[in-house]
Amino acid sequence: MPEIRVEIGERKRSYPILIEKGIKEEIGRLLTARYQGDKILLVTDKNVRAYYAEVIEELLRKAGYEVVIYTLPAGEQAKSFKYLHKGYDLLLEKGFNRDNLIMALGGGVVGDLAGFLAATFMRGISFVQIPTTLLAQVDSSVGGKTAINHPKGKNLIGAFYQPELVVIDPDFLQTLPLRELKTGIAEVIKYGLIADRDFAIYLKEHKEAIFNLETEALLHLITRSCAIKAEIVREDEKEKGVRALLNFGHTIGHAIEAVTGYQVYNHGEAVAIGMIGAGRLSCKLGFLTREDLEILGDIVRLYGLPFSCRYGEDVEGLFQTLFYDKKVRENKLRWILLERLGHAFIKSDIDNQLVREILEGLV
Ligand code: ADP
Ligand code: ZN
Repeated sequence: MPEIRVEIGERKRSYPILIEKGIKEEIGRLLTARYQGDKILLVTDKNVRAYYAEVIEELLRKAGYEVVIYTLPAGEQAKSFKYLHKGYDLLLEKGFNRDNLIMALGGGVVGDLAGFLAATFMRGISFVQIPTTLLAQVDSSVGGKTAINHPKGKNLIGAFYQPELVVIDPDFLQTLPLRELKTGIAEVIKYGLIADRDFAIYLKEHKEAIFNLETEALLHLITRSCAIKAEIVREDEKEKGVRALLNFGHTIGHAIEAVTGYQVYNHGEAVAIGMIGAGRLSCKLGFLTREDLEILGDIVRLYGLPFSCRYGEDVEGLFQTLFYDKKVRENKLRWILLERLGHAFIKSDIDNQLVREILEGLV
């Protein structure tokens, strides 16, 4: 079974990400080997609950645990103070203490809220993730970022908090809506572009297998993505340096999400447009070759991800929004560019006029 170890911090505390078809059936055994407590809070959302929560609950009960299910509404609205608060109430009402465990079963929303709940309840209790969307499997379950939203912005309240274990079963993707699958693929493409040219080419050549959800292709996709992210996070848990490379496509992507009120494009779609923009910028500045820029475009197009943003003429508004990102320091944008396909780097001083031109090409 592919196992990726994410190593974090000075003392290289590490946790395993286990990736295997059908591994969700093993959850009882995997947990009893690691967790001696009696109670589990199983956090999920309404959709995932209907498909999977009962099966997982049953497996945990059989393994001897008392299970309390906390069902969130589906969607971003769940990442709020309200549902965090309800979570604390439930934990206290059911007598949870520091030796107990929280398990996230769902996509990035469930993982972010459950993770922050685990990070803060009694100053931190054990946390296990079972991500059920591709985006959560390849992105949010690696690296320990947890958060809720604030009315002033997304993910503004949160903590770095690493799980004890991540269990990834590609079978979950069988029920995932196509649009959700594609949003995850955008991040997968990103990993190829920033760190592994061969992987990018693999994606170009295996669209059929991936869209047909063939096990071998999905396992390769997930394993390679998690390995690339784990390697970057190992070097830089708290985003002081190389972790910024993971933001390729995100400077423009976040701005597009924001100016369209988070209603038009989902995260992966916005990042796809952002990657096109960052790729063109890399090419204009003489780093990425025309041929490689074309390959980048081909992959984005192949997976049905958007190329440009239906947003109208307000390029200036979009430009200003670039600076709202919480990663902006002293009003300076840090661009992640491609030196070539499979190799990204950070560059700060880029002419604003050039950036505006790139944005004009995207809207
Ligand atoms: P993401 O993981 O993309 O950040 P969410 O946590 O919001 O986002 O999940 C996206 C949507 O997919 C939600 O409506 C969620 O209920 C649904 N979902 C999650 N996992 C599955 C699955 N395995 N099958 C079907 N729907 C799912
Ligand atoms: Zn992202």
